[in-house]
Formats: sequence, structure tokens, C-alpha cells
Amino acid sequence: VEPILKVEDLSVTYRTAGGQHHLALHPLSLTIAPGETLGLVGESGSGKSTLGRAIIGLTPPSGGRVLYRGRDVSHALRNTSARHGHTIQMVFQDPYSSLNPARKIASAIGDVLGVARVQRGQRARRAAELMRKVGLPAEALGRFPSDFSGGQRQRIAIARALGATPDLIIADEPISALDVSVQAQILNLLIDLRRENGLSMLFISHDLRIVSDISDRVAVLYLGRLVEIGRASRIARAPAHPYSAMLFRNIAVPDVEKTRRLFRGQSADEDVVPSSPASDRLCAFAARCPYARDPCATVAPPNRNLPDGDNVLCHFPLYERA
Ligand code: SF4
Ligand code: MG
Repeated sequence: VEPILKVEDLSVTYRTAGGQHHLALHPLSLTIAPGETLGLVGESGSGKSTLGRAIIGLTPPSGGRVLYRGRDVSHALRNTSARHGHTIQMVFQDPYSSLNPARKIASAIGDVLGVARVQRGQRARRAAELMRKVGLPAEALGRFPSDFSGGQRQRIAIARALGATPDLIIADEPISALDVSVQAQILNLLIDLRRENGLSMLFISHDLRIVSDISDRVAVLYLGRLVEIGRASRIARAPAHPYSAMLFRNIAVPDVEKTRRLFRGQSADEDVVPSSPASDRLCAFAARCPYARDPCATVAPPNRNLPDGDNVLCHFPLYERA
């Protein structure tokens, strides 16, 4: 099956205030199949949102490309006029930030329906239908964002995304800003909509339990690097990268002092190796890795193929230890 999304060697560089370049996302490749949910996990600052934003064109990539249904969209998506007809949508952590407080819900939804080329005379009916889909009454359309709770606003944001008839949704921490009591409702809504509409999803979250529950495959980011990608069931049961193991087995950071001694001179004061091109001569996880040994501190680890198309970026993946 042709993947719906193909990311090839995509990288993102930020320029810091001091004028230095910071590689926020190291060249990274992945695919998402039709109807598939790929979970994206990693600590804050690992590049999860950067990847989501680069895929949809909100953050310009510094290298590589994004193929959507086989078409190179890495430049097109950045240009709003070229956005017509593309059907990747993003749902953000804070729905309030993506809704204009001065405009009624009807106009927020109407905009998207316009971009999706729904005829003017059809828009009201379609908007009411979208409200119903996300469990809100049609009357909601006549009100303002401030009239709604956080969970309701996220329903509205999801309705607006659906208005563009996407076949891929990038959901960036869609429930983490919500009250615990409504998190499950919004998650179930996304799961139902995914099934009803045959959606593919990139589900970004730091909640590993949720990610392993709803994802077919999982990608693990560490300091802007894709360190492991594979079937969710396999990674949860038998993670291959030592960092994935720490995340999924809820293992605390190991004896950092001990590993630091191994790398004295390279990371004497820091828990983590700085993410810079110069650090490509070692494993970025080395200072925290309980399994670090020669040549982890001097040679960047290779990307190794595991069975079933899974991948791991490590000199000594855990599956070889078993
Ligand atoms: Fe640990 Fe070495 Fe693998 Fe890095 S390459 S994760 S330091 S074993
Ligand atoms: Mg983020």
C-alpha cells in the first residue's frame, strides 16, 4: 500500500538569538499508511511539535521533503494559496489559541468550508452536521469561543479540522491541556472519527499509555533524533533503544554519574549531550545510557533495521542483549 505520508530526511534548523544554528530536528524519515495512527513520543524539547509543524508546513524545513500522496508538498503547504485541496489538518494542544475570540464559531468553521470549496449555500448545513459529529448542538455556531469550556473548544477545533475533509490529522497533545474528566471523552471522539472517516493520524503525546493504546506504530524522539520506530505492541513489550526502554518501562534516569565518568570531557556538567552538529560524533543519549560503552562516545550510532520494518538508532540495541 502506498503510504499517505512520506517524510524523507526532513530536518529543521533554528537560529538562536546569538546567531548560532541549532539543529532542532536531525534528518529523519518515516511513513504513515492510509488509516494508520503513528504515535510520536519523547520528552519536551525532543522535537515532537517541530516535526508536526514541519510536516504541515508551519515550520520551514531546512532539508529533506514531505510527500503527501506521492506529491512533494514541502514547499506548497507553506503557501496558503497552494493549500487549497490539501487535506492534512492539525489539532493543537490549546484550542483557544487557534480560535479567534472575536468571531463566532460559524465564521471559524465557514472559513475552512470555504477553503474546502463547499458552496456558500451548503455551508450552514455542513457546519451543523460537523457540530453534530463532535457532539455539540447546532446552536453552538452562533456563539463565541469564550462561551465554551476547554473540552468543548477542542470539539470545535476538531470540527473545524474535519471541515477540510482531511485524511490525515496531526494531533499535537490534543488532550493534555484539558481537565482529566474530559480527556477520555475527547480521546474517544478522535478514535470514533478516525474509524468513521478512515483517517490517518500522527498522534503527538508524552503520555505513553495513551500512545501505546491508540497507535499502530510508535516513533520515539530524543533531542531531535528519531531513535526508534516500530509497532506499538512490540515497543511497549520489548523496546530496542535504551531510551525507549526508560520511557516505556518507566525506568528512572540511570546512574548518570557513572555514565558521566565514561564521557568525562564531553558531558561533564550536562545530563544530556547538546544537540549540535558537532555532537554527531557520538550517541546523543550516551551520557544517560546505562549500556554506553566503546564506541558510543566517539562514533554516531547507525540506523539499524529490525524485523517487520522497525528501526533503531543504537550501537547495541536491547534486542541483541536478550
Ligand atoms: Fe546507549 Fe550506546 Fe545505544 Fe547510545 S549507542 S543508546 S550510548 S548503547
Ligand atoms: Mg510540543
